[in-house]
Amino acid sequence: MKPSEEKYIDKQPWLDKHEKPFLEIRGVTKKFGDFTAVDNVNLEIYKGELFCLLGGSGCGKSTLLRILAGFETPTEGNFLIDGVDMTELPPYERPVNMMFQSYAIFPHMSVEKNIAYGLKRDGLSKAEVKIRVEEGLELVQLSQFAKRKPHQLSGGQQQRVALARALVKYPKVLLLDEPLAALDKKLREKTQFELMDIQYKLGITFIVVTHDQEEAMTLSSRIAVMDQGKIRQIGTPTDIYEYPQSRFTANFIGSINIFEGVVKESRSESHVVQCEETRCDLIIDRDSSIHTGESIGVAIRPEKIHLSREEPDNKDFNTLKGKVLDFGYIGNLSVYNVKLDSGKTVKVSSPNQNRYSKHRVTWDDIVYLTWEPANTVVLL
Ligand code: ATP
Repeated sequence: MKPSEEKYIDKQPWLDKHEKPFLEIRGVTKKFGDFTAVDNVNLEIYKGELFCLLGGSGCGKSTLLRILAGFETPTEGNFLIDGVDMTELPPYERPVNMMFQSYAIFPHMSVEKNIAYGLKRDGLSKAEVKIRVEEGLELVQLSQFAKRKPHQLSGGQQQRVALARALVKYPKVLLLDEPLAALDKKLREKTQFELMDIQYKLGITFIVVTHDQEEAMTLSSRIAVMDQGKIRQIGTPTDIYEYPQSRFTANFIGSINIFEGVVKESRSESHVVQCEETRCDLIIDRDSSIHTGESIGVAIRPEKIHLSREEPDNKDFNTLKGKVLDFGYIGNLSVYNVKLDSGKTVKVSSPNQNRYSKHRVTWDDIVYLTWEPANTVVLL
């Protein structure tokens, strides 16, 4: 488990047409009877990526991971690792290892025996097993707990035992099914960084299944958003959040306000969108794929909207007027629901930069919502 020499994550190999994908999933479909759990998935993952499959319950992400591990056979399609077709190979002949949600560590074995288990089963020499177990313990910082049993460890430490056990087999690809689901929120956040650090040091390709969007955003080089067995969008966390390509992705990742409208006028730098729900025109940046007369969704994230009681005078920004229906204080920020004259409710979030402010916006206040056209997402 030598540290990798190249940090692929910095290179964004998916943007380089000369780079070859390390893992290629080609037209993979999995049917259970009449039901299609994975629907014609095509995916290219590059060496050293920490790639997340993200989606709601039942979207097919675990089935896809199980196909890669060899625990399910695809109904159609195939997949390759490093140019070699893996589809027909049994799980133990694939250069992949899977870490399960339950960790599946043996309760009666010590930490070091748990880590050694798979290596012994593969027939490695005693000396080689010893070296790899020591390496693994050091990597996950559990050397001082080598003799402990799993019940003498915290949830996070158990998770690290499972990770070490999977890594000491030197897989080319590590598959992780909801690896942090059993941890509480604080520990999960801490462990996310440990996981990233280990992956970064080793440069092994990680494919992580999660339903937790914050986790996917924190961990990933890229994310594939899945829904009903299909991939809806593939991109970096920034791509997915700032440039969602569909209403599904826009709504699934974070919160977003969507105003339905019709493009009324196209100018040199912008388009004007007529919108019933705002009872005023909205301005969006010029985009060559948008045409006058077209129906579009004008979408804006709550944190991109500025909220104030004073009427702003910047005519280049979009401005809406409304009344505060309710608000929630979440500590670092407050979330407001503002009702427009049309009845449409707009969600706005504002950071709480000061502990106390007598000017803080509250229930029934009349407020102005403004945002820069450049921050708008257009949904077709
Ligand atoms: P979760 O986050 O809830 O685990 P998931 O996205 O991982 O969801 P999968 O486990 O991949 O979902 O399941 C996708 C769909 O396929 C689900 O509707 C599930 O009921 C169905 N499914 C999975 N395995 C089988 C099976 N062996 N037989 C029949 N249907 C199955």
